[in-house]
Amino acid sequence: MKTDIAIIGGGASGLTAAIAAKEANIGARVTIVEKLPRTGKKIIASGNGKCNLSNMLLSEHNYHGSVDALKIIEKMPDYNSFFTDYLGVMCVSGSEGREGGIYPRSNSSNTIVNAMRMKLDELGIEELCGCEVRGIIPEKDGFTLIGGDDNIRCKRLIIAAGGYAAPTFGTDGGIMRLLKNMGYKTAKICPAVAPLRVSPDKLKGLKGVRVKGEISAVSGGEILRTERGEMQFNDNNISGICVFNLAYLFSEYEGRLNLKADLLPDMTWNELKGYLENIRKSRGKLPLEELLTGIFVKNLAMYLVKNSIDRPLTDKISTLKNNELSAVMSRIKALEFEVCGCSPWQNSQSTMGGIHASCVDEYLQSRLHRGIYLCGEILDTAGDCGGYNLQWAWSSGMLAGGSCGKSLKGAGK
Ligand SMILES: Cc1cc2nc3c(=O)[nH]c(=O)nc-3n(C[C@H](O)[C@H](O)[C@H](O)COP(=O)(O)OP(=O)(O)OC[C@H]3O[C@@H](n4cnc5c(N)ncnc54)[C@H](O)[C@@H]3O)c2cc1C
Repeated sequence: MKTDIAIIGGGASGLTAAIAAKEANIGARVTIVEKLPRTGKKIIASGNGKCNLSNMLLSEHNYHGSVDALKIIEKMPDYNSFFTDYLGVMCVSGSEGREGGIYPRSNSSNTIVNAMRMKLDELGIEELCGCEVRGIIPEKDGFTLIGGDDNIRCKRLIIAAGGYAAPTFGTDGGIMRLLKNMGYKTAKICPAVAPLRVSPDKLKGLKGVRVKGEISAVSGGEILRTERGEMQFNDNNISGICVFNLAYLFSEYEGRLNLKADLLPDMTWNELKGYLENIRKSRGKLPLEELLTGIFVKNLAMYLVKNSIDRPLTDKISTLKNNELSAVMSRIKALEFEVCGCSPWQNSQSTMGGIHASCVDEYLQSRLHRGIYLCGEILDTAGDCGGYNLQWAWSSGMLAGGSCGKSLKGAGK
């Protein structure tokens, strides 16, 4: 099979790149090569089926890795121009998830995928689904893709094959490994937007507990980043959006990363002390297991007391000494866990690491093979949870697709 522009991957960045390539070069034959039976599967699952497609509060602090994602996002049309003006999808700033999150007004990710699929049809973009690319051979005037029944010959190639996260959506890092073998430099890879693993012993008694608070990633006493939100304690990990946004740090601080939670961030030490001293008086006759049940759910309340002082929980609250009260307060204000690993890929939503920025130019064209363009999660940038990853996928897809389409026109297609 022969085509002008082939795109490996029919996810968020691949679909956008296909549209941008065709718009930039309407006469070119554009073909999306997708491993799964249909394109856009991960978009449909995104944001719990609601698709948190962007965020009003985009900043450089929300992107991690060697690629300057924000610079590219800022120079491309924003979500309003692309989704509302161009695709006709009305968007709203939602109240769910992260502050500033943007969603389709329908509250359904299907709206996004339908609109994109209709645009592909209108533009005459071909989809070759159920075809896994297993090899890329650079030729004098283009590339041969090995995969499916027939090899695919193309003049230009856009690689939008994603990373390793959520492999049920077709992303097992296969193309990343292939590129590595072709000489591409990759930054250290680990799951991002994912729970962080801590020792199950430290979580005994906490399973299923959810609590709102502040959680920091700490290494060697230095606070690396602090997030607020609801954390959830599981068998062997801590999850919640606030933890997801710290997961990317595991790649750099593996073996020396701790999580430190303040379970009452809005209360000062003295305010908490006053509250507990009052409890010692007013609830003095009750057992210690009731000390914190006015603030936290029972399991968490008992866990905090049990892990602060060496006493039977049946002892009376009135018998608490001041130093014991301080120990309980320290647990509440600085509950610490050693991070012993990151989550498996199937529990993560993004990939930290990927093809290093030095491998692409400002148009996202490969510096190693002219005529190859890269976009989306395969590149070394991981966004925070809250619409940042999809915004990167759309923007990088627009840039790679547009540059690719124009370059073929320039070549006299
Ligand atoms: C459950 C879940 C929820 C999420 N929710 C949000 C959210 O609400 N907001 C947000 O910003 N981000 C979200 N994300 C992250 C976001 O979806 C991804 O970062 C984004 O979709 C990446 O787009 P991409 O095009 O780079 O890669 P992908 O969407 O991963 O697409 C890559 C495509 O390439 C195909 N492919 C891979 N290898 C081959 C091959 N060898 N041959 C042919 N095809 C191949 C895959 O099948 C896949 O379809 C979520 C992720 C998950 C898993």
